[in-house]
Amino acid sequence: MRKHIVAGNWKMNNSIQEGLELVKAIKANYAGDNQLIIGAPFLHLSMVNETLEGSSIAVAAQNCHHEESGAFTGEISTSMLASANIPYVIIGHSERREYNHETNAQLAAKVDLALKDKLIPIFCCGESLEIREKEQHFNWITAQLKESVFHLTAENFAKIVIAYEPIWAIGTGVTASVEQAQEIHAHIRKEIARQYDTAIADGISILYGGSCKPDNAQELFANADVDGGLIGGASLKADEFIAIANSF
Ligand code: PEP
Repeated sequence: MRKHIVAGNWKMNNSIQEGLELVKAIKANYAGDNQLIIGAPFLHLSMVNETLEGSSIAVAAQNCHHEESGAFTGEISTSMLASANIPYVIIGHSERREYNHETNAQLAAKVDLALKDKLIPIFCCGESLEIREKEQHFNWITAQLKESVFHLTAENFAKIVIAYEPIWAIGTGVTASVEQAQEIHAHIRKEIARQYDTAIADGISILYGGSCKPDNAQELFANADVDGGLIGGASLKADEFIAIANSF
């Protein structure tokens, strides 16, 4: 059975004190057995990790650099994350692609470095409204996978998590319909099976992201190929995040 994962992405929100209160509330109130992940800002990672000690909830960085080390002021490397015992890293979020002009080739380098340093990449893919309206979304997603993760060996590919996040649904209050989510998730799994094999495709957790809330999580997660969610806004409130985590 595939792992059910609910990952929060706090983005650039929460002071250290607010973050601490939020993590404590999530830890104290979640009793389920789905894998919960908290994607915190770099500054918060060690605090979140320490606060989560003794629970099965894990922490994720929201980004890493595509070079191993060097003169990259303000950046964080995968080896730094590994040295702080951070298990997951979100790679290729659409906000990083848009505002930081991250390319598929750079994301491939990040994925390689993350795996080399034994971090689990949560690799994000997704199309803009313009691409969807031109009905090019299937090809778009396939290209993102081909250019950033399909170079991996089967052994390494089996370690990653994929998040499908239609850009038009992120932070907009518009959610992909149950059918739209299932259709793309099934497409992603089919492409993985074509590139690797069905055993690998069947083992990969594919998360949905885009205005996932307590009132729509259950129907989204009921889809055969949706294995959880990457949650932005609703991960900032413990009760909403936990309600989503309990939606399987
Ligand atoms: C996200 O940014 O990953 C996201 C899914 O945001 P939201 O849930 O706020 O749409």
